[in-house]
Amino acid sequence: MLCPFPRCPLATPPAEPAPGPAVTAALAIVGRPLDLTNAAMTGGHVGRRPRWLCDRCADPWPCALFRTYVERLLPRTALIPTIAALLRPAISDLRGRPGGPTPPQIVRRFLWFLPLTDDESRALALRLR
Ligand SMILES: [Zn+2]
Repeated sequence: MLCPFPRCPLATPPAEPAPGPAVTAALAIVGRPLDLTNAAMTGGHVGRRPRWLCDRCADPWPCALFRTYVERLLPRTALIPTIAALLRPAISDLRGRPGGPTPPQIVRRFLWFLPLTDDESRALALRLR
């Protein structure tokens, strides 16, 4: 809650952190590396910490077009370790942000290609804290 007194340092919300480096995760699978920072492979739909927004469309990343690109490039068995490696830093960055997603929502967002139940998403989020 913000302080109602305008001169109080708690009267203004904390500044948004500056955008960080692009999300990095690479995996060589079936002789074809997937570099999530490679705009040519992801159509420019690259995520950026700590807000995990898409560079191109500004949607929460992984955005719909990124998902389409990588699902065309990789089988799920390759996608799981690549994307799962990003879950812990995503939860760390996004957890507790005002209006931000909950850890189970983050799990479902990053593992969109798996039919996770709410209980499974919650259990995974707890393991990745
Ligand atoms: Zn995008």
